[in-house]
Parts: sequence; structure tokens; C-alpha cells
Amino acid sequence: MKKLGLLLASLVTVFLVACSNQKQADGKLNIVTTFYPVYEFTKQVAGDTANVELLIGAGTEPHDYEPSPKAVAKIQDADAFVYENENMETWVPNLLKSMKDKKTKVIDATKGMVLLPGLEEEHEHEGGEEHHHEYDPHLWLSPHRAMKMVESIRDQLVAAYPDKKKTFEKNAQAYLKKLQALDQAYQDGLKDAKQKNFVTQHAAFRYLALDYGLNQVAISGISPDSEPSAARLRELTEYIKKNEIKVIYFEENASKSLAKTLSSEAGVELAVLNPLESLTDQEMKDGED
Ligand code: ZN
Repeated sequence: MKKLGLLLASLVTVFLVACSNQKQADGKLNIVTTFYPVYEFTKQVAGDTANVELLIGAGTEPHDYEPSPKAVAKIQDADAFVYENENMETWVPNLLKSMKDKKTKVIDATKGMVLLPGLEEEHEHEGGEEHHHEYDPHLWLSPHRAMKMVESIRDQLVAAYPDKKKTFEKNAQAYLKKLQALDQAYQDGLKDAKQKNFVTQHAAFRYLALDYGLNQVAISGISPDSEPSAARLRELTEYIKKNEIKVIYFEENASKSLAKTLSSEAGVELAVLNPLESLTDQEMKDGED
């Protein structure tokens, strides 16, 4: 009986030790990221050195996301937390205030990058709280700027974990090569475009437009659910006719009613232009990126 008691006690000890070490059981870093592009870039740089988790998954609109207490705890328990920009994850500055005494390394994926001002747009969020996007956060949609983000994530990870420097640099280099090819394809493919203007529901493509010589005309604002006025819709219909625009782009996940109204008003086609803010579960399963 005494022996059994000892055995049980040691089993309990083993079990407790196993639980408390669970996070580092595979020797990998535990990194929490906010939404899809930040998740993808971090995963590419970290490779096998980390378990990278996506906080804002499929079917959640990242502009409107607010973290639950569970999500906050997850971030506070992580080795590192990577976010894009406080103009996208507007809840991050408050979160960071609560994390001053935590060990989590905080990585800002757009650190030091120049941002364009947000559009003159204010919209109400649920609960009537006014919310203003001061700067435009959609940097990842320009491959050229996506490369800068990858470099920034790489440099901050190296600074936090210098022992993994070689791996981070090697991984980043391989991924940057792919983005470089994409950047070149955009340059080559767009330089002779006859139509440089494009109309989109979600104003997410201004950096892309700026870097590749296009002109974005947005129906709504920086956040896809903001509503334009009737006057703005009339103005846009005029613009579409005058500039012989053939297609209006909308975001698959957002409500397309506005784009639809406008396209039937102006008599032009509708097509999807994905801001890559999230992938569907199916796209994730299919390994799309
Ligand atoms: Zn957006």
C-alpha cells in the first residue's frame, strides 16, 4: 500500500511537470499573430522554430475584431505576439498597456514604415462608438511593402531570439525571393495597362495602387462595412461612365449590396478583389497562401 502511494505520488509529480512544460515540450517558440498576412509572414520567417497561431480566423472581420479575455490571456502567455498596425488592430495599444510586466515579446510588423493618411471617413461601430482610422493599414497588399514587413518581422525576431538568427534569415530570404518575383510580375503586368483607374468597395488597395501606378477609387472606406452617402454613389456612377470603367470590385466576405447597386446603376460588371485579410477554412485546408 505504501509502495503504491509512492508510485502514485511520483506519477502525479511526473504529470505536473509534464503539464507545466507543455508549451516548450517540442522546444518551439509559441507565437501568437493577429490576422492572416501577419500570420503568414511570421510563419514563413519562423519556420520550424515556432508554433505560430492565428488569432483572428476565417469568417471574422479583422477591422471590427475585439479580443475576448481568453484571447488576451493567450497573447500574454505567448513567447511572442505579432500584430500589423494599430490602425488595423485598434485594440492593441490598450492591450500593450496591460502587458508591461509580461515576458511576451511584442512585434509590430509595420514598425518604422511610412503610412498614408486614412480617408475622410468616420463610421459607427456597434454600441454607437465612433471610430476613426487615422492611417491606412493595408500595406501587405503591395508586394513591395509586404517585403518590408517580412524584413521587419525577421529583424525583430532576430533581436528577440539571437540564437535563431541563422534560421530566421535563411527562411526570410527564401520567402523574400518569392515576394520579389510577385513584385516583378505586378510591375510587368501593370505597366502597360490601358485602364489605370479601378473602383473597389473596400478601400484596401491604395498602397498597391501607389506602388504600381494605378488609381484606386473606393466606394466605402478603409473598413469594408462603412456606408457611402447617396451623393457619393451618384458621383461614382458619373465617374464610372466618364472613365469608361468596365468592372466594379467587391470583397467576397463583405456585403456586396453597395457594389451591386452601383454596378447595376452604372451598367458594369462585378468581380472579386480579395484584400487577403483572411482565408476561408477551405482555403487554409487547401494550403492556399
Ligand atoms: Zn481592410
